[in-house]
Amino acid sequence: MAQLPERMSTADLAQVVEGIRTTVRRHSTRFERAIPLIASENLLSPYAKELLVSDLHSRYAEGLPGERYYEGNEQVDEVENLCLDLARRLFRCSFADVRPTSGTVANLAVLKALAEPGDLVATSRLADGAHISSAGFGAFGLRGVKPLYYPWDPERMTLDVAKTREVLRAVRPKLCLFGLSLFLFPMPIDELRPTLEEIGAVGWYDGAHVLGLIAGGEFQDPLHEGAQVLSASTHKTLPGPQHGILLGELKSEETAKRLQAGAFPGVTSNHHLNAMAALAVSLAEHLAFGRDYARQVVRNAQALAQALHERGFDVLAPELGFTRSHTIAVRVGREGGGEDVALRLSRAGIITNKNLLPGDKSPKHPQGIRLGSPEVTRVGMREKEMVAIAELFDDLLHKGKDPAAVAEAAWALKRDFTTLQYCFGAGEAAYRYYDLVGRDPA
Ligand SMILES: *Cc1c(COP(=O)(O)O)cnc(C)c1O
Repeated sequence: MAQLPERMSTADLAQVVEGIRTTVRRHSTRFERAIPLIASENLLSPYAKELLVSDLHSRYAEGLPGERYYEGNEQVDEVENLCLDLARRLFRCSFADVRPTSGTVANLAVLKALAEPGDLVATSRLADGAHISSAGFGAFGLRGVKPLYYPWDPERMTLDVAKTREVLRAVRPKLCLFGLSLFLFPMPIDELRPTLEEIGAVGWYDGAHVLGLIAGGEFQDPLHEGAQVLSASTHKTLPGPQHGILLGELKSEETAKRLQAGAFPGVTSNHHLNAMAALAVSLAEHLAFGRDYARQVVRNAQALAQALHERGFDVLAPELGFTRSHTIAVRVGREGGGEDVALRLSRAGIITNKNLLPGDKSPKHPQGIRLGSPEVTRVGMREKEMVAIAELFDDLLHKGKDPAAVAEAAWALKRDFTTLQYCFGAGEAAYRYYDLVGRDPA
């Protein structure tokens, strides 16, 4: 670990800056050569990336378009109005707010708008796949709401509808959150809609992971199945900038006002205008290419699961086809446990994460790893490459092949995929998607 001395000259500090630049380049090269399988990560298109480093990065625009607190926002307003329009079109809904600066911030805005401290909010357990937003030490705790957990069906990796109906009728929470970070199968909101209506609860969907699949028509359509509000990150299966979004099919103008006030001034001041503009580009690109992208993302996840299963890996939910999303879960107790396996994979050029599986108690020593297809699909890989990746897993974790040799093979597989797909402008000569700012630093 780099340690800075107590006193530093200007020359020392200049060296520190050079060091940081070099380290980030090393990071980029490492990812360029790796097989990146983190389910929540993706790559930004060149035009979106360009806007991230535009002058918008230096500006403030509090409030809504046309109702700002500072001058100089005319062009920002134009872009934000387009961004809102593109969002409503892509998700076929009437409400959008693009000011939350991340998925967690979007969740906090919803909690601020639709819950009071002390309320019970229905959600899933972390070990059943929920995000830390639902935890007492996360956004739920910050707002002071208490989780009411859905009864879970670990075989089907989704909530148990009959038991959930009983619990909801008995406890009558006013807000019910659906959505996961280990999100293999759609949530049965449609089936629960009558119960939500009966108890007068608002259905809230956290689509951080599956936003791009929803938009591409590949997963489920929560806002038309009974959820009123959808919060999400915009950088997972939707390959946009790191940012957040609120979408809705709301029953009242008052709810819209509450959500807007939740976003600002509730949980943001400025909303990262550079990221907002990059999001507008990403939404337009997803309208153009999102259906093809989402379809291939799901096909690749299923192909990877099948190929791992055939090589003796314990991929969850085999009877259900492993997954209907971008994510698969693998129980790796036999291979050494989630922590050890994720570390060994990373040393062999395959980036994954350890992950809790149903029944797990310790977040540091879980039984599973989580794998996702968004990034490898974005660079153009298809089913054939998923089989090759499964071979790398088998070589490393079952056949004892040297990690350095596996890393070489991973780079040999990756080096043919130099052009980003499903976006505009990626064919431009200077654009290399793993570089610092989208331009070759050399
Ligand atoms: C990733 C994630 C979030 C929040 O993500 P940010 O990193 O804050 O954008 C929220 N909910 C779920 C289900 C997630 O998976």
